[in-house]
Formats: sequence, structure tokens, C-alpha cells
Amino acid sequence: MPDASDTPPPWHHRPVREIFEELATSERGLADAEAERRLEEHGPNRLQPPKGRGPLRRFLAQFENVLIQVLVVAALITALLGHWIDSAVILGVVIINAAVGFFQEGKAERALEAIRDMLSPEATVVRDGQRRTIDAGTLVPGDLVLLKSGDKVPADLRLHQTRSLQVQEAALTGESLPSEKDSEPVEIDALLGDRRSMAYAGTLVTQGKAAGVVVATGPRTEIGRISGMMADVAPMTTPLLRKMAQFGRWLSLGILVLAALTFAFGILLRDYDASEMFLAAVGLAVAAIPEGLPAILTITLAIGVTRMAGRNAIIRRLPAVETLGSVTVICSDKTGTLTRNELSVQRLITAEYDLEVSGTGYGPEGTFSCDGNRCDPKDLRAVEAALLGGLRCNDAELHETAEGWILQGNPTDGALLALAAKAGRDLGYEQKACPRSDVIPFESEHKFMASLHHDHRGQRMIYVKGAPEIVLERCDRELAEAERRPIDREAWLSRIEALADQGMRVLAIAEADAAPDKLALTFDDVKGGLTLLGIYGIIDLPRDEAIAAVARCHRAGIAVRMITGDHGATALAIARKLGLGQNGKVLTGQDLATMDQAALEGAAGEVEVFARTTPEQKLRLVEALQRRGEVVAMTGDGVNDAPALKTADVGVAMGHKGTEAAKEASEMVLADDNFASIAQAVEEGRRVYDNLNKAILFILPTNGGEAFVIIAAILLGLSLPITPVQILWVNMITAVTLALALAFEKAELDIMDRPPRPPREPLLSGFLLWRILLVSLLLLGAALGLFLWLIQQGASLEVARTAAVNALVVGEITYLINTRHLRASCLSWEALTGSRPVLIAIGVVVVLQGLFTYAPPMQLLFGSASLGGQEWALIFGGGLLLFGIVEIEKAVRRRWW
Ligand code: ADP
Ligand code: MG
Repeated sequence: MPDASDTPPPWHHRPVREIFEELATSERGLADAEAERRLEEHGPNRLQPPKGRGPLRRFLAQFENVLIQVLVVAALITALLGHWIDSAVILGVVIINAAVGFFQEGKAERALEAIRDMLSPEATVVRDGQRRTIDAGTLVPGDLVLLKSGDKVPADLRLHQTRSLQVQEAALTGESLPSEKDSEPVEIDALLGDRRSMAYAGTLVTQGKAAGVVVATGPRTEIGRISGMMADVAPMTTPLLRKMAQFGRWLSLGILVLAALTFAFGILLRDYDASEMFLAAVGLAVAAIPEGLPAILTITLAIGVTRMAGRNAIIRRLPAVETLGSVTVICSDKTGTLTRNELSVQRLITAEYDLEVSGTGYGPEGTFSCDGNRCDPKDLRAVEAALLGGLRCNDAELHETAEGWILQGNPTDGALLALAAKAGRDLGYEQKACPRSDVIPFESEHKFMASLHHDHRGQRMIYVKGAPEIVLERCDRELAEAERRPIDREAWLSRIEALADQGMRVLAIAEADAAPDKLALTFDDVKGGLTLLGIYGIIDLPRDEAIAAVARCHRAGIAVRMITGDHGATALAIARKLGLGQNGKVLTGQDLATMDQAALEGAAGEVEVFARTTPEQKLRLVEALQRRGEVVAMTGDGVNDAPALKTADVGVAMGHKGTEAAKEASEMVLADDNFASIAQAVEEGRRVYDNLNKAILFILPTNGGEAFVIIAAILLGLSLPITPVQILWVNMITAVTLALALAFEKAELDIMDRPPRPPREPLLSGFLLWRILLVSLLLLGAALGLFLWLIQQGASLEVARTAAVNALVVGEITYLINTRHLRASCLSWEALTGSRPVLIAIGVVVVLQGLFTYAPPMQLLFGSASLGGQEWALIFGGGLLLFGIVEIEKAVRRRWW
């Protein structure tokens, strides 16, 4: 097609050379300075966040709530009845409530956004000829990006080198089967899904690897153009909150019916006049509906999510916060999660020599010794060959920086590079002297990696490195100092076993000659006929904090399973150091493959260590555990782990070594890849759930008590002991202020010493209902009792009502302290003064109550009146009595239940 028009032909249609030229870039990538300049010019590689609801819409949304609507109607009718002050107070409270909801929601949304930002993706690029990992937001057109399986494509790329690349483009085309890609130009009018030479931002690499040059970033990418569709603002909700909201709706409905009945009862049977009775009915509705509860629950959740993020557990889907609290089994990877992932080669064994290597870390410091004597690897042919093989068949890079040696790539490969450096090899030189023409990348699925090389004399060779059994079965010879000779399989197997028994990760390296015209590598090329060069024994110590965390999980009734791709003996030796696998049982992928569903379920229950597993077996294990009724948290990092992560109740992806594919499939991402952080997240999840429970347990009795007071008054034909506006004051000002403090409650002392919460435990358990009823009745007793007594003593209605309101509020204050511990005693200095938020909330409420009682404007608005010392004494007496009775109830419970 001629290219006479102004617009150049589309990227997918042009040869890569032309694109390199047009974007002024090369195989060495851009220079840093140039990349910076382009970033200025093109802007960051980010999609505009979807437009949230505007402030006005968000404010109005606060009124989409039955209760608020009831209140607005009530305000209108009270105005029509001429109760101007009541009407104004009701409207005032409605507006304050909407404003509080508005700001709290804003805060919760911002907290979530901040957490989303922590998950910003990274990209591997070549700049100034060096491979580097950078924030994907800083990519610019012309950047050379490297893709590997599991990556999310960070920008629109014109592919320039591919290796069995497959990309899943569902985000863009809706097609969920991966499509194959290569670098050949395609038809000018090819549709998006058929442009094989392009990889588009937002799609997922499911297999292979590639390099591509960035042609569009941010809003100019294909996904950017349709990004309106990408708006995935997760609503701030979880199963518990949804259940609570549903409960709230039914409760409101029930209460409205009850209020209507009361109204009818009062007029027909008790001779109240309609206007007074209407106020009473409104009062009842207002009293019984827990207005503040939804806001408190949302805030508790937001605080929990933020705290988890501070402890390296980033929640991607909110319901996980709750699920975490009920987790019964944690299935964890070994390498890097339970271990430190600072791998170093300690042994190198060839057919005739067994060398020990000193020095840890990725630096070149370390020595080789054989039978206790220092030795030089250069003198030993097979050792040299094994060192070079490990160096060449390798996907990592080591860079020296001010902070020491930094690893780019996989730690297993990094350890082999460091080993070669310790033997005095110049890594850069070696890689140039014998460049790689093709590679089969490492995947947990097949557990090896192979590469094809040629030297300057045109000689070609293949290296295969991987799990020792896998490599061994492809070898028919071994390299000795003098010759290649037939392999002694038994000898190798016992060497492998010996290393694995010491908890070392064992890797084998083999080589084969290749024909001079060989350019590409296939699985068939490495099926057999290899020569074994040697095996490496690599140590990776358990993390100290993981040992402690495993013990903590066991105390908390949570089982831990190690599921690894590593060798059985290695896995078991490390598991033992972590306090797992004490029964000595380990199952390998092969064992699992022969098991039927029932056998697997049985095994999943008693075996703690699973080795040489494939991602597919991980999935089967999760399912088996779930059939046993367990709530499963499962870690994963590779693309192939995605199904297991999705199936698990809490999928946990690794922040560092995890692929984007794994992160997308998971509920939670670990910023530090550390098992201890999972245990901490579970603890935090339990705390959040406790605090949600505490908030419910605290707020509902206030409503119950008030509702009882109103109903009792109507049944007895009394004038209302508390007016509707006073009830609004108690519910929306004091109760909310006090309950907010509970969102900050620290974890109970025994939080990790008790078994997990049963996953199907009902929202309002018997315990909760009973406690709510008890406290409601106590509040009723205090408020109504005081009211009646004062009336009898000849006090004015205003004074008696003010005393009743204060009795309620003081009861709330003492009960707030009761609620700090659900079951444990609160008769301790810690319980009384241990929480700053609780003390602050009480201080605020005391001041507010002082104003309510004594400030003339408040007296006008709320019909309150000043109280004297005797009233206060009775009010505090009531509060203390309530506190005491609840503590006695707890003691009885602790003793007899
Ligand atoms: P893990 O559960 O320890 O993360 P992996 O799935 O990463 O297990 O690895 C499984 C096995 O594959 C390892 O025991 C090792 O023998 C082999 N292996 C791991 N990394 C590499 C690599 N980069 N190249 C070749 N083989 C590897
Ligand atoms: Mg791994």
C-alpha cells in the first residue's frame, strides 16, 4: 500500500527497523536523559483515573437512606404542626449526619486509593544498554521493554523479538484464549485481535518472552482510548457489611411498622392527641434505627485496610479483610516466602570432585575448597565446565552499585552468577564470548531451563539446567576430568539425596553439542543424550520471622502447608527448621498425581509438606482443603498459579517475585513476599472483625434502650421521657462519637490464641443478641427509673428529661469501656485508660453533655434544663451499676460457658 498520505502507516504494518528509526531508539534502548526528556513531553504512562462521583452527587447520595428520608418528612410535618424548633433541630441533625457521612466516605475512598497506588506495576526495560526494572508509569515511546510470562504489558509495544510469545488480550478484545505473537508486520487493515506484531497495554503474557519497543503510552494506548470502561472503583463493602445493610433495611421497615402501630395505639387507646403522638412515633423510629452504624463499620474497615497496608499486606478486594479473620489453613510457597531468598551455592559436585564454597551474598567474595584444602576451580576441567554452564544458562544479571551487588532476575540464577564470579570469571566478558542464540525459559511447570550458545569459532552447544531428577533422566554420560564417560546414575542419585537431606536446593547442569547450523532450540533437542557436568547445592535459610509466625499460626488454630516445586528431601529439611512436617511426611507431585479425590482430601488434612508440585496440583490441593471445610489462604507467584489463587478463599500474591498475572488473580498482595506478613494480616483480619462486632454490640443497645423507653412510656400513658430531638442528639452525636473510638481498638490479647471464627457464624450470634437485650434493658431501667423518680419528686418535665438523657449517655460511656473486651474483664487499669481514642471520645462527649445540659441555646433547642448534684449522683450511680452488671455477666460467662 502506498504511503502518500500525511499519517504514516500504522505500527503493526511496518518493519521494526523503520520504527526504531522513527522513534530514534535502538537495541541499547534510550539513554536516561533522553527518556526523561520524553517523559516531560509525553507525560506519564498512566490512565486517567475514572472520574469519581462529584462532591455534590456524593453529598446527595447521603440522602438515599430510608431513615434520613423519614427524618426529612418528620421535619416537614413538625414544621406544619408549628413545632418550629423541633423541625429545625431535626433538619440540622440530618445535615450534620450527611456531612459526617460525606467526609468519612471521602476519607475511606482516599485510603483505598492510596492503597491502589501501592500496587503500581513495574516494567523491565533496557536503557543505556542495561536491563533495569522501572516504574511502568515512567515508560516513554522509544523505550525497549522486555516481557516474560506473567507480565502485564505496560504500554503499546511493537514487538521486535519474540520467543513462543502468547498474550491473553481479553481486557482489550474480550477474547479469553491467548493469541500467538511474533515480530513480522501484518496487514495494514488487520483488526486489533489479529495484529500479531503488537502487544497492547493491559493484556497479559501467558507464555514465552519478548522484547518490544514502546509506540504509545498512557491515554494514547488502545486501552487508554477506551479506558472509560476500565473504571473499577471497588465499593467499600464486604459480606458482613452487606448483611448489616440488609439487616438495617429490614430493621427500618419493621420499626416503621411498629411506629405506625404505636401511633394508632396511642390515639385509639390512650387518648394522646395526634400531634404529640406523631412526635412520639417519630421518636420511636429515630430511637430504634442505628443511624450511625453503617458509617462506623465503613471506617473500621478502612482503618483495618490501611493498617494492613502498613504491615505489608495490601488488600486488593475488601471482602478479604473479613475472610482473613476466619482463615484455617495457610498454604505457602517455600522459596522466598518461608525462606530468605538470598541463595548462595555452597557445594559444587562433579563426577570426581566435591567442592565446598564459602561466602554468602551476590558479591564475588568466596573461596573453593576440596576435602578441607583450598583449591582453584581453574585446575579442574569438569568444575570449570559446570561453572561456565551455570553462568551461560542463566537469565539473571548482577550489577555492582554503591549498596553492593544487586540482582536483576531470579535468585537461583543469581547464585550461579555469583559462584562463577567467585571463581574469578568476568561475567560480562563470558556472556559476550559465548553469546546465546536461543533459550527455553525456566517455568515451574517443566522445572528446567535450556539455552543454545555459539563461540567465536562457530562451535555450538546446548546447556540444560534444572531440577536434578529432570536433568539426570536426560543424560547418558557424565563429564570426568579426562573424558566424557557413561553416567553412574546411582552415584548421582545418592549425591543429590545427600545434599537435599541437608535442606539444600539442588540444581543440575548438563551440556550437549549442537550442529553448527542450529539456530533455534526446541523441547525435542533436550529430550536426551546430554552429558551431566555437575550439581550445585544451594542454601536458602528459613526466615527467622517465618519460624515465629508458623508457631503463632499453630497457636491460633491455623494449619500451615508448605507447597513447593523443590525436591522432597530439601522441602522436608527446611520445613523441619520451620516447625512443620514433624511427622516426617512429605508428598510429591508424583504421589499426588496417583491419588483420587478422597485420598487427596485425607492427605491434605495430615501432610504438611508438598514437594515437586505443579501449579495444577496446587489448585487440586486448594479444592481438597475446601471440601474438608477449611478456609484457605494460598500464596502464588507465577502465571500458572492464577487458577489456584482465584479458587483459594484468600489468594495471596507476592509483591516482588510475583507476576502481574498472579497479582490480578489474588485478593491480597504481600509487599515483602514474607510469610510472617500473612500471619500478621490474619491477626489484623481478626482484629477488624472483632472491632466490627464491638461496634455493633455497642451501638445497638443504645437504640434498644431508647426504643424501650418510648414504648414503655406510651404503654403506661406517660409523657415522653425523652423527646425525638433529644434522641437524635444521643444517637447521632454522642453514640457515634463514642463508637468511633472502637474502630481503633487494639487486638485483644488472646487474638492469636483462639481458634479461627467459624466461617458460617451468623452475624448476630446468640451471644450478641443476648448482650444487646441485657444492656438495652439496663439502659431502659436507668433512664426511665430516674425520669419517674424525678417526676415523683416534683421536678419539672425538662429536668426529668435532661436527667434521663444524661443517664443514657453516662450508661453509654461506662458500657463503652465494657465493650473494649468482648469477654475478658474490663476491671483493670489497662481497660479503663489503655486506649487514647476512647479517652478522647469520652472527653468530647462529657463536654458536649455539659453544653447540652447547661448552655442556654442548647436548652432552647433541645428543651433541656440544668441539673443539680443529686441528679448527677444518681446518673453516675446508674452508669456504674450498668458497668458492674455487664462485668458480672462476663465473669459468669467465663466461668460457666
Ligand atoms: P519453589 O517452590 O522452591 O519456588 P520452583 O517452582 O521455583 O520451586 O522451582 C522448582 C525446581 O525447579 C527447583 O527445585 C529447581 O530444581 C528448579 N529451578 C528453579 N529455578 C530454576 C532456574 N532458574 N533454572 C533452572 N531450574 C530451576
Ligand atoms: Mg518459585
